[in-house]
Amino acid sequence: MTQTGIIKKAFDQGQGIVRLAPTWVPRSFCVPGRRIKLHPDDYYALGGVRGGIDERWFSSTTPADNGPLTSENEGLSFIVFEHGSERGRALLRDAVAELKGTLVGERIWKEHQCWPMYSKFFDNKGALPHHVHHRDEHAALTGQKGKPEAYYFPPQANNYGADFPYTFFGFVPGTTKDQVRECLVNFTKGDNKITSISQAYRLDPGTGWDVPPGVLHAPGSLCTYEPQKASDVFAMYQSLTGDAIVPEELLWKNTPANRMKDVDYLMEVIDWDLNVDPKFRQNRFMAPRPVQSVKKMEAAGYIDKWICYKADAFSAKELTILPGATVTMKDAAAYGMIMMQGHGKMGVWDIETPSLIRYGQLTHDEFFVSESAAKAGVTIKNTSKTDPIVMLKHFGPGNPDLC
Ligand SMILES: [Zn+2]
Repeated sequence: MTQTGIIKKAFDQGQGIVRLAPTWVPRSFCVPGRRIKLHPDDYYALGGVRGGIDERWFSSTTPADNGPLTSENEGLSFIVFEHGSERGRALLRDAVAELKGTLVGERIWKEHQCWPMYSKFFDNKGALPHHVHHRDEHAALTGQKGKPEAYYFPPQANNYGADFPYTFFGFVPGTTKDQVRECLVNFTKGDNKITSISQAYRLDPGTGWDVPPGVLHAPGSLCTYEPQKASDVFAMYQSLTGDAIVPEELLWKNTPANRMKDVDYLMEVIDWDLNVDPKFRQNRFMAPRPVQSVKKMEAAGYIDKWICYKADAFSAKELTILPGATVTMKDAAAYGMIMMQGHGKMGVWDIETPSLIRYGQLTHDEFFVSESAAKAGVTIKNTSKTDPIVMLKHFGPGNPDLC
């Protein structure tokens, strides 16, 4: 079967909903938090030198940038086609290029000619260094796009918070630019103490945060569902995290050649006002927001909540289908989804939530829903008498439902 054949058959088989294979990503600088259901023997499935697997990527058409050892297609989602003895896989990226607006919707295809976001589970045992993702204007200097991201901490993946369930954001209001500059100048002197002028917020399962580009952040150790713009641009501004030294090259990562070693450039990358916003928590914290009256939704058998709703580049929802209920859900845009709890049917597909996954094993917990299928309505049937179905849905930019 040709790639085009697989893509078309997969699309038809799912009536506009394609099934995806799990995409596991290792990070050489991270220690896995072991909350993403991978078999305990498989967290180092790619070998010790590649590091532990602490990420699973969803609806990804973005390759992982893991240095020279990165394997082919690392970070990219595959569509799975299985019918009788016929079997095949194709990259979601190729399916988007082949099916265009039929898959992602004409609105997104016309503007982006790609699927411009992805989401992931980020499952780290410790905290990450205080780092920044560039705004478009700075990312463009190295041929990239800026990167907004957002966090949601799914209760199903967070029965323990690991080493440091607090995230530093920005700088304490009143911090001066000279203080930040001094930390950057001191980067190679051991501990540059940049978190001494920042503040950490406790992370609570079932809530999230909005992280615009230009905002410094040192993500804590909850297992995080993280929708983001398709870009891998960043620079690390903290030189010591826990017991680990951060190499200086990561401070200068994505700095244009003509501004190398220029601390003023690092300062320009910081969106100063957002970082010292005295109302940072009010403006960036995201409590889930029901799409309408919870009572009304419960009476109809479901609860639908916005969980990421402050960025333009993507949005996300948590959908619950109550035990025994059958509900047809309409959305105005294409989306990817991951099952967090329960089992049943979604359109023609069986959907379920495995409790343990071997590296390389297929699942029925991740799908991509075309815009036409989303608009027509996806019927979800919860076959359990006691267990809700809970799924997380990630949308591209400009979701018409989010106004
Ligand atoms: Zn980040």
